[in-house]
Amino acid sequence: MHTQFASGLVWFRRDLRTHDNTALNMALAQCERVYCVFVFDTEILAPLPRQDRRVEFIRESLVELDATLRALSPHGNAGLIVLHGRAEKEIPALAKALGVQAVFAGRDYEPQAIARDLAVSQTLAMDGKTLQLHKDHVIFEEREVLTQMGKPYGVFTPYMRAWLARLAQHPAPDVSPTHTQRLAPRPDLYCRPVPDLKEIGFEATNLHALRIPTGETGAQNLLTDFLVRMGRYEETRNFPAIKGPSYLSVHLRFGTVSIRQLVNAAYPRHLQGDEGASTWLGELVWRDFYAQILANFPHVAGSSFKPEYDQIDWEEGPLADELFAAWCTGKTGYPLVDAAMAQLNQTGYMHNRLRMVTGSFLVKHLGVDWRWGERYFAQTLNDFDLSANNGGWQWVSSSGCDAQPYFRIFNPIAQSEKFDAEGKFIQRYLPQLAKLGPKAIHAPWLAKPLELTAANLTLGQDYPAPVVDHAKARARTLLRYGVVKKPV
Ligand code: FAD
Repeated sequence: MHTQFASGLVWFRRDLRTHDNTALNMALAQCERVYCVFVFDTEILAPLPRQDRRVEFIRESLVELDATLRALSPHGNAGLIVLHGRAEKEIPALAKALGVQAVFAGRDYEPQAIARDLAVSQTLAMDGKTLQLHKDHVIFEEREVLTQMGKPYGVFTPYMRAWLARLAQHPAPDVSPTHTQRLAPRPDLYCRPVPDLKEIGFEATNLHALRIPTGETGAQNLLTDFLVRMGRYEETRNFPAIKGPSYLSVHLRFGTVSIRQLVNAAYPRHLQGDEGASTWLGELVWRDFYAQILANFPHVAGSSFKPEYDQIDWEEGPLADELFAAWCTGKTGYPLVDAAMAQLNQTGYMHNRLRMVTGSFLVKHLGVDWRWGERYFAQTLNDFDLSANNGGWQWVSSSGCDAQPYFRIFNPIAQSEKFDAEGKFIQRYLPQLAKLGPKAIHAPWLAKPLELTAANLTLGQDYPAPVVDHAKARARTLLRYGVVKKPV
């Protein structure tokens, strides 16, 4: 088959896999020789703490990607070029050094990434080279699912209906790479192993101790494990002490698994009436939904989706700082909130139900601007994704694109009694409360003194007293949100 280019470069970013990687497949179809690169971008790395699970996750996943590319190549000598620098400079420089005609990458919808890609494509163009960006990260991108008026959707349910209708007409198969004989050996200068964390200025985290699976193999193992549980997803997904969800989010974030593969695992079961599969597929649609919200309404990165919500006066000053610090460190005195924050701080993961509970608590109990919470999650979540995180935070603060009325204020005690009835999740992350009975564990300050003594617990010493009173906080929030003229 005649190819369009003598050589091309695949720039891996948030698609760290070989199975069903659109940029890789496109390059292998269009180029006689294909090189592969990943850049540890110093612009992105600079503000991160020196111990960051995500950096370690990427590094481990690159080791596997490098080995897989090698195994796929005819003489086992292809492999991944790994650079450390500013991608904006490194990519055009590498393209020049390798003499490729085109660079291939998966499209990224985040404002900073869009600016970076524009800069790269302009520099490449000056050299007569092109940057080809391909849809890979989502099933349907920004303007593929539109209302009958040709506008992007701002509400989820009709979006999902249209999304499913479109999928029925435009299936999204996941495909393995072909023409892998075109994977080219790396020039000697670039024949280096993936740098270790130290070389890029980082240190090991507890990623291995937590046994967080990395790379394509890690994702496939999680998927295999989840497929037998998928049918029960609907009943189990809200209970943080139960293994209900897939735990694939970090893999979707860094593309160690293909979204098409996941949709193709759930969709046929959805069509057969498998409720668990339908609900899980719905979660994958939420992911596409928020990605298109960010792409079509980029103002959400920084402002409320509904502008009237930017009139709200949030708490500020030393008291707000103190309450925020108590929330971040899991010292609010509300066990479910504190256990959830401990899960986040210790593991980088937080169960979806708890993201809603802790988010709502910060905004609607402590009166703190949702953007503070969004920033903290962005720093700490392994699966941090701008569109999903922003969508989630706008949802909990009611400022977002779905009909979550502001007067719906989660009661953290009721949530705890409902979703962690026996207190098992709380016990796991707050062992000091383990001896409290199944009622008192949700609100220790309501326990009888005798019960506290029996549990060996002194409130204010072993565990904080609640930082706010639920009823008073609720009343304050209703007042605060009163400035919003159109509540729903
Ligand atoms: P599963 O239940 O197995 O779901 C499968 C996949 O569907 C997830 O991996 C994820 O990619 C997608 N998904 C599920 N729920 C949502 C949702 N509400 N919005 C968008 N995609 C969804 N998800 C992130 O991936 N990154 C974030 O930064 C993020 N921040 C959030 C912040 C808040 C305040 C809230 C309320 C939710 C946030 N979510 C985020 C969504 C959701 O909590 C996580 O995707 C989910 O908990 C990840 O666990 P899982 O892979 O086991 O999910």
